[in-house]
Amino acid sequence: MTLGIILLFLLALFILYNILSSIRTIVKWYLGDYINTYLLVANIDPLYKEPLRKYHKYYQQLNPSDKTIFEKRVQKFINQKQFIARGMDRVTDEMKALIAGSAIQLTFGHPSVYFAHFKRILVYPDDYYSEISKRYHKGEVNMGGIIVLSWKNFAEGYINYEDGRNLGLHEMAHALRLENAVTNDEYSFLDDEIMKTWTDLCYREMEKMSNGESTFFREYAGTNSQEFFAVAVEHFFEKSQEFHDWNPKMYETLTKMLNQDPLKLGKLG
Ligand SMILES: [Zn+2]
Repeated sequence: MTLGIILLFLLALFILYNILSSIRTIVKWYLGDYINTYLLVANIDPLYKEPLRKYHKYYQQLNPSDKTIFEKRVQKFINQKQFIARGMDRVTDEMKALIAGSAIQLTFGHPSVYFAHFKRILVYPDDYYSEISKRYHKGEVNMGGIIVLSWKNFAEGYINYEDGRNLGLHEMAHALRLENAVTNDEYSFLDDEIMKTWTDLCYREMEKMSNGESTFFREYAGTNSQEFFAVAVEHFFEKSQEFHDWNPKMYETLTKMLNQDPLKLGKLG
């Protein structure tokens, strides 16, 4: 009799748990973007807003209401991550704001995405030596959930915002593709059809590069499809018009994938 009651109680708990998770999934599905964009997000600390205002070229071009959304998302990103200094005393507020800024720039069209898989961000002052690859790196993203950046190279990406080189956007682009592939709440947010179109365009272009035909992306893009994507993202934001004129189909596919168009920044309501 007692065993029967316990079993019944466990069954009730199991059913209740499933009902609650279904409600959570439905609410997240329908309201996730809204909640993440407008609610449950604190205003930005002025210490983080100032560096965005001074140095973040993308943020500077946004209209006032998009600026507010961007700021809140930067604050939320900073709250969720652990910033770890390597080879220097600390990761400053300015560094945190601008690193978070590059993540939010890339995901501005996907308001629910905060790179949940990547909890830690390691910052080195300059190129760092990797014991694994036995060479110097500027940045990397690993499946263990760590984003590594060298501050000197990161800062140069935003100081010189027109040369198609931006370490922050490059590494965040790697993180975005991995985030889309690992199973968690943010899993598979990039549309499958668009990804197929992208993959076709990517391999077609890499083929041309290997034959020495294309010159728009730097040679490194031909390394593999991940590097091709990361370099394409750098050009998408920094050389938007040239990219669009060179290959409108590829540019348009990226606008659909990232749900934003850098050529229309500040013009969207
Ligand atoms: Zn890379």
